[in-house]
Amino acid sequence: MDSFQFCDDLGPEKIVTLYDPATNMRAIVVVDNVACGPSIGGTRMAPDVGVEECFRLARAMTLKNAAAGLPHGGGKSVIFADPAMPLPEKEKIVRSFARAVEQITDYIVGPDMGTNELAMAWVQDEIGRAVGLPPEIGGIPLDEIGATGWGVAAAARVAKDFCDLELTGARVAVQGYGAVGRHAARFLANEGAILVAASDSKGTVIDSDGLNIDALEAAKSSGGSVLDAEVGEKREQDAIISVPCDIWIPAARPDVITMDNVDELKTRLILQGANIPITLDAEKYLHEKSVVSVPDFIANAGGVICAAVEYAGGSQTQALDLIEEKVSTNTKAVLRSSQTTGSLPREAANQIALERVHKAMSYRWSFH
Ligand code: NAD
Repeated sequence: MDSFQFCDDLGPEKIVTLYDPATNMRAIVVVDNVACGPSIGGTRMAPDVGVEECFRLARAMTLKNAAAGLPHGGGKSVIFADPAMPLPEKEKIVRSFARAVEQITDYIVGPDMGTNELAMAWVQDEIGRAVGLPPEIGGIPLDEIGATGWGVAAAARVAKDFCDLELTGARVAVQGYGAVGRHAARFLANEGAILVAASDSKGTVIDSDGLNIDALEAAKSSGGSVLDAEVGEKREQDAIISVPCDIWIPAARPDVITMDNVDELKTRLILQGANIPITLDAEKYLHEKSVVSVPDFIANAGGVICAAVEYAGGSQTQALDLIEEKVSTNTKAVLRSSQTTGSLPREAANQIALERVHKAMSYRWSFH
């Protein structure tokens, strides 16, 4: 494949293939744009992610980090391997990967699908340059504290004013009751919202009078499904899409809303916890129907903001404060711009992010 086909006015700065014959570690690293600072982006372990996907994920990180106003550019890497391999073998591969990226100093390694805190501890041990670390070595446990869900709730506090909504009594439905979704539900419930539906890969539970969040939490934290919580009416996985609500939070997988099912949604506000949960044409359709939708890289930036604070040596409290400040400010800027110009919130968000990257590029001698 011709890697130069991805080049445009932003990057990518480098696409590097890595191979260690001793361990059979095979990986690819894409450093997209570092005008705002050294790139941060997760390391995915998967057998089947191509160069193009890795580049697209790196570009998404360039925009997400710039939109969040972080001093970091965007990057991403993929180790081509089965994440379920035995742990000793995984450790060898990850350590070999870490040694191979040591010289790529403008790439800071983070967790992603197939890697976790433990993998980041191995990387840190090898090269001292990783985020998403265990707390014992300076990490902020972002999924445990609900960093991304905290940001989603901050987006709700701002976005409600753009759709005439009060959080007290607002009906919330969460698709994907995992690290992002369940914390978002809990934070919104603390503001008086009512969780009327929750789903995971096993099914959906619905109760228009409100689900018991403690029961759901107990079921999920013991490794079960929302269906094990003995709450609400049990339905199939996709029943969550048509539940009448005020706030719908996709926090599971990409492309869950398309032109085929967009008409099933009965909501006023969408907070995109997952990455690209709605196809662009469906997003445009919702915009025309005056459904307010806060795009993924604005609403779910809490995780990477937390990682950036960890990298800078900050505390959990500083991370939560910064998430609230950044996500609120950006949600307001995006929805205001969308309201004024009539453009899609995603287009407004892209424009804000691109302006920041181009401005940062203008400060760098290497770009003149
Ligand atoms: P997770 O694995 O903790 O939770 C995902 C949940 O979604 C699980 O409960 C799973 O059962 C459920 N699920 C899977 N497929 C489903 C489907 N088709 N319908 C309904 N539920 C389904 O993952 P997470 O960390 O909460 O991440 C969720 C999404 O948010 C992912 O797209 C991820 O890339 C994105 N994201 C996560 C973070 C973070 O900080 N964790 C940050 C930004 C974006």
